[in-house]
Formats: sequence, structure tokens, C-alpha cells
Amino acid sequence: MTTSAAPALALSDDLDELVAEIEARFDDLTLSRVRAWKDAAPGRLAVGCLPVLAPREVLWAAGALPVFIRGAGDRIDTIRGDAFYQSYICHLPRSTLELGLLGHLDVLDGMIFPNTCDVIRNLSGVWQTTFPQHFVRFVDPPQTGERATAAAFLRADLDLLYRDLCARTGRAPEPAALAEASEAYAEAARAMAALAAARLAEPWNLPADEVYQLRRAGDAMPPRDFAALVTAYVTAARGRGRRAEDRIRVCLVGAFCEQPPVALLRAAERAGCYVVDDDLTLSHESSPTAPRRDGEPMASIVHAALTTPRACAVRYDEHGAAGATLVERVRACRADGVLLAAPSFCDPALLDQPRLTGALDAAGIPHTSFKYSESSGQFQSIREQAGTFADSVKLWGTA
Ligand code: SF4
Repeated sequence: MTTSAAPALALSDDLDELVAEIEARFDDLTLSRVRAWKDAAPGRLAVGCLPVLAPREVLWAAGALPVFIRGAGDRIDTIRGDAFYQSYICHLPRSTLELGLLGHLDVLDGMIFPNTCDVIRNLSGVWQTTFPQHFVRFVDPPQTGERATAAAFLRADLDLLYRDLCARTGRAPEPAALAEASEAYAEAARAMAALAAARLAEPWNLPADEVYQLRRAGDAMPPRDFAALVTAYVTAARGRGRRAEDRIRVCLVGAFCEQPPVALLRAAERAGCYVVDDDLTLSHESSPTAPRRDGEPMASIVHAALTTPRACAVRYDEHGAAGATLVERVRACRADGVLLAAPSFCDPALLDQPRLTGALDAAGIPHTSFKYSESSGQFQSIREQAGTFADSVKLWGTA
């Protein structure tokens, strides 16, 4: 038995209506659409996932909608959440707790915390004591280059998660359901690949803020619905017919966990950049090739989790190749430079910067860096910095 085989979303082909739909989904902090999805059929669950590892296929196969929780941005005042953390901790756990304490996450049946850093590890414990009604699972991605050991370790974790969730939804843990879920997410990944290609080809028609909010809308959508929304948006946005402006093409790197405010993305683009690639909303990327139904779907899911994700500071880097990988990516995107963005007090992103900048310097790729908080309200300095960077690259080919 599968969760859903076909998209259930009725979509307009009008771009303004699609963008309004995307913005409404992005702004749905109380997860009203998740509640509607759960209410549409008995036995459905919804499980929150913190960045950046999310076993979406496993959740979906078990009848649970994966819902990415990436903090609240600048859209709520964080008051009680602040009381849990010292001033030198990033903002994401505070606003996530605030969302929970406000009751905005009540529709969720559980939360999955991947081991990305001490902050998330700590948050998983805080969550267990603060929200005892939630099913809480701490997932520890393997940190070894020995592939068979890593696969066996992750497989044991995911098998257990699948069985536990199926016990809650009343489903039998079947390989066919895993295969169907993998196909659904492969469809979403193909749509995402088309979105990325369209942005690379004509970023003036697919602005960074829209593309970003579209991906955030997908944080709480069934995979085939999300694929349909992405496809409709790409088609409509490409028909905009805007003309390219004299801006530089940049990759935005380092914003994989705590997300910058949307206004920051707008400020960077209006300052003279086209953001053609970024590592925001990591976890949406997955293998666009679904595992074979006659194979072992869980083994395929584990293999994809270990081999396909994009490099980032909180993922095991077996060969220490993050810098070289970034250089390759910049060249593949025909980017003129890199904006290194990091949340304030994010140790993984900030500690990763020296090796990234070293590789960029060695390759002669201009870059500039800045820090942000999800709750930042002032972007003038970032706008000036991005504008100066863009002008320098245009005039002298360097920052
Ligand atoms: S923003 Fe950085 S430090 Fe904070 S939870 Fe995410 S990875 Fe950890």
C-alpha cells in the first residue's frame, strides 16, 4: 500500500497565481496544509525533519509526510526559545523551539534530528523533554569512508525507523512501498534538476527569491505534488520574457542549515548578482533515478544517501574534496564568483570557510563572505558588499 501515486494538486498555469500559491505555502508557519493532508485520510502522520539529512523515502513509504523544519526566519518574534540557549548559539534552534511552544508544530507526530552539530544534538534532547507527545529520533549519519560499514550502519537505523513508523501508521513495512516512495522522490528530483537547469540558463526569469520560496514550499508537500508545482513554475517563469541585465553570476554557499531571510536574497540580486546556484534547502536534492522495483529498495536508498548528496560542512567528506568540488561547481555553473554566507555562530559553516576560500583562491575565483541571522532585518551592509563585489568582478575580474 502506498501513500499516493499521483499528484492531487490543481495548478494554474498563470505565473502570478503560481507565485501567490508558492508564497502562501512558504508563509504557512502553522502548517495548515499539512493538517489538511493528514485529515484527508485516516492513519496519516507528519514528521518534522531538521536540516540536512532526511530519510524522506522511508517516511513517505510508511505513510508519513516529511516536513522540513528550518527555523522560522524573521517571521515570528523569538522570546521563549531564546531562554533555552546562550547568546553565542545560532538562531535556528531558538525559533524552532518557539514554533513548537506556540503550538505551530502541533500537527506533527514526530521530529527527526540528524547529527549535524552539537546544537542539533542538544535540541533533540530539549525536544524530547519539552514535547513528550512527539516521536523523536536522532539519526547519526555514518562518518567513515569504509562504504560497507557506513551502509550497514545507516541501513540498521533506517530499517528501525521504517518499522517504528509503520507500527504507528498500521502499515506493513513492504519493499514495494519503499520502491514507490523512491520513485515519487525521484520524480521530484527530476523536477528540481529541471528547475536548476532553467535557472542556470536564464536566471533573469527565475529570480533567487522565487526559486527559494518554491523549494521551501516543497518542504511540506507530497513529492509528486511538489514535482507538479516545480514543473508548472518552470514553464510559466521561462515564459516571462525578461531581458538579461548586466549582473554577475554567483554561487551562494554556506547557508545549508539556518536560512537567510528572503529579503537578503533579494538584496543580493538587486545589488548586481544573479544567484545561479546555492546550497539553501539542502535535502531536496536526491537521486533522480529511482531504484528498481525488483531490487532492494532500502539498499538503494542507503546507497543514494551515501553517494549522491551535495557536499556541505556537516556531511562526511571522505576525501577532503569540498574545496575542489566547489571549484568544479562554480565552473559548471559558469559563475563569476562565490558569496560565502554563513549563519552567525554556525561552527560548521564558519570552520569550513578557510578550506573553501583556499581552493577558490588557488583557482582564481573571486569570493566575498558575510554572516547573517535568520531574524536579520537590516541588509544595507550586505547589499553594499554584494554590490561592491559585483562591480569589482565586472571591472577587474577580481574582488
Ligand atoms: S546553523 Fe549551524 S550551528 Fe546552527 S544548527 Fe545549523 S549547522 Fe548547527
